[in-house]
Amino acid sequence: MSCRVPGSGPYRAIARGGPQDEYGPEGTRVVHVGSLPVGGPEPVVIAGPCAVESREQTVEIAHAVRAAGADMLRGGAFKPRTSPHDFQGLGREGLEILAEAREQTGLPIVTEVLDVRDVALVAEYADMLQIGARNMQHFPLLTEAGRTGLPILLKRHWAATLDEWLGAAEYIAVEGNLDIVLCERGIRSFTQGTYNRSTLDVNIVPAVKRLTFLPVLVDPSHATGDDELVPSAALAGCAAGAHGLIIEVIAEDTDPTTPLCDGYQSIRPSVLERIIDDVRPGGASWHALRPSGSGG
Ligand code: PEP
Ligand code: MN
Repeated sequence: MSCRVPGSGPYRAIARGGPQDEYGPEGTRVVHVGSLPVGGPEPVVIAGPCAVESREQTVEIAHAVRAAGADMLRGGAFKPRTSPHDFQGLGREGLEILAEAREQTGLPIVTEVLDVRDVALVAEYADMLQIGARNMQHFPLLTEAGRTGLPILLKRHWAATLDEWLGAAEYIAVEGNLDIVLCERGIRSFTQGTYNRSTLDVNIVPAVKRLTFLPVLVDPSHATGDDELVPSAALAGCAAGAHGLIIEVIAEDTDPTTPLCDGYQSIRPSVLERIIDDVRPGGASWHALRPSGSGG
């Protein structure tokens, strides 16, 4: 482990025992997104479409996820696609749609910023900036995003070590921005494509919590790539101590082949509601997931 000497490790600004640690050996920094606390004792649930495809689609899903109990809306206006021929997102129009969905539902929004040149634009609309897996080590983007002062959702690259991930978070922290929420979204493994898209690295959740006071979420959608596997991965993430979930959702009656991005891994609002009921205090899994005294 690289960060054994407080104050001198490669990610000293976010390290337990480091100069900015006010949180004790097990405490978590609570990151506020608007008025929503992330990192408190109750898991937060962020939900919404993979991509903003239209006003109607996004607003409908926003209302549905709010009714299911979600705390925040997700949706990409700028999409990082493997092929340049695939849908790249609606850009500014997508951001305007997200702002309208926020206006109608009251849910804060998190959306990805792909490009240093778009940081100011995305920051005008978003309550939280997402740095996607592919850009986890895009250092100038981390710096610019950090400088906005907005909370940042930093996804782990599918082949990043824990040290590389925390080093990336440190780039944001050294800009004076400690409002960072980490997100495990599945890693590449030998099972790739046999029954899943990625492998949810459940054990990195407690490993992260041992090294940093920053909150950590789990994304069961990209970690599985299969809507039927999402509920189990979501519960596993919470059981491992994640501070919440980010989940892709389609409307109840949408054919999963029709979204332009990630339809097969998107769950319905009715399934989201069951997951939320399970992971919230008093839910079926709550006591099993949070043994007494486990803290934040
Ligand atoms: C997403 O959240 O839509 C996304 C592209 O995720 P990731 O960066 O984890 O692939
Ligand atoms: Mn997606």
